[in-house]
Amino acid sequence: MRCPWCGHPNDKVIDSRSAEGGAAIRRRRQCLKCSKRFTTFERVEPIGLIVVKREGAKEPFERAKLISGVRKAMKNRPVTEEQLTQLADRVEEKLRRKGPAVTSQEVGLEVLELLRRLSCFRSGKRRSCSRARRRGPGDPAPRPPADGATRGGPSGLPLHVVVGSVDAGRRH
Ligand SMILES: [Zn+2]
Repeated sequence: MRCPWCGHPNDKVIDSRSAEGGAAIRRRRQCLKCSKRFTTFERVEPIGLIVVKREGAKEPFERAKLISGVRKAMKNRPVTEEQLTQLADRVEEKLRRKGPAVTSQEVGLEVLELLRRLSCFRSGKRRSCSRARRRGPGDPAPRPPADGATRGGPSGLPLHVVVGSVDAGRRH
């Protein structure tokens, strides 16, 4: 690192410590020429996650969209805002690991997978995971399938409901 005082290219690190709650490393350095001290910060380069839509258009990942998609998928289920946020966190984490680009379909499938695990965890029975959700009298009628995606998702929700809502409501 070039010395900010004299421009000399060589220095030695005299102290390294965690900073910004672990998000950065702060290093105290000493110039090998003028012996003056200066500080550098090392941070992880942010990963920009890109979502590729069905039409091939790309857009930056937006957490708010993911949360509203999860909220729609969880409609009529007892779920708190905190659980919604946790679900979105886990989906986002998985997507970032898959990144830097994911398809909107992959986003929908990750949401479904987590919903499935959530309902398995709740019931404690593996059997209930494959059982379609029974509609109660107060539930709205299911949306008619727009295409061939009539297959129920692992959570019992029709696949197009979740994928469609995550995909900014666009369906083909
Ligand atoms: Zn110097």
